[in-house]
Amino acid sequence: MGVYADLLIDSSRLKSLREALCLAQTHPSGLDTQQSALIQLVIAQIDRHRPLGPDGKHGNRHTFTCGCDDEQSITVDDGISIRKVSESEVLDEDRGMP
Ligand SMILES: [Zn+2]
Repeated sequence: MGVYADLLIDSSRLKSLREALCLAQTHPSGLDTQQSALIQLVIAQIDRHRPLGPDGKHGNRHTFTCGCDDEQSITVDDGISIRKVSESEVLDEDRGMP
């Protein structure tokens, strides 16, 4: 096994990054097989954060790092639901505000 490196990117840019990588894969100038496989690796990592359904849409498959900016409930294993909250909401709770 090699050493793995994290690539940090604002999650709100995952969708557009994936679209750009897919476009690069289909560009007529062409990539060689190895380059295309590398791009596919990055796309797979993006899909871990922002999963897509069989229809190619993200829908309500939210994760904590999917990049959707609206507040969402996330259902994890065993039906436990976790709600994403905004930073201001956390600060309000710290101040005892409803
Ligand atoms: Zn999402």
